Amino acid sequence: MFNLILFGPPGSGKGTQSEKLIAKYGLKHLSTGDLLRSEIAAQTPLGLEAKSFMDKGQLVPDEVVIGMISSALDNNPNAKGFLFDGFPRTEAQAEALDKLLKLKKTAIHLMLALDVAEAELIKRLLGRGKTSGRSDDTNEEVIKARIAEYHKKTTPVADYYLKFDKVKHIKGEGTVDEIFEVISKEIDGKI
Ligand code: ADP
Repeated sequence: MFNLILFGPPGSGKGTQSEKLIAKYGLKHLSTGDLLRSEIAAQTPLGLEAKSFMDKGQLVPDEVVIGMISSALDNNPNAKGFLFDGFPRTEAQAEALDKLLKLKKTAIHLMLALDVAEAELIKRLLGRGKTSGRSDDTNEEVIKARIAEYHKKTTPVADYYLKFDKVKHIKGEGTVDEIFEVISKEIDGKI
């Protein structure tokens, strides 16, 4: 198995690169943002709870997303590996993920962290908001709240994996294909 975390702030290109990575490496894509938006669309109790946090640009409580990831791992027993996108976003989530993977006799092999300047993030998210139908991308205050949450709660996750020497930083600015080539080289060196 090969398990990868694609890490980076909102708007750093995780979703775009994930699409290309799952096509090339046959990994199962687990995006907590996408899973939460499906729950909202299906109007489940979990979705309704999550929406109130997401609309404000805040993180959804750890137990909610950890439960979702745990079910997704159980539902994909034959996966060649997983691509985690937008998860883990707190240290508690990282610790929980390590435990879940250990139970399945596997682990995280690599974290690729996309680095993008803040002004560029805001520009990209507002641009995406014009067509994505995502309400959290149309309001600059909500975008800024998401970036603030990232700095406060999510950056420690990179430090957590750094302790195990699993982190590689990638410049997240340039063309989609240029960035994908750098990412692919890192994966090919590990897989
Ligand atoms: P982005 O990375 O562009 O903000 P996502 O689709 O990954 O977009 O996430 C959208 C929202 O969903 C986040 O602002 C947050 O409220 C919620 N969310 C997604 N993943 C997590 C997570 N692992 N933990 C807590 N909240 C999450």
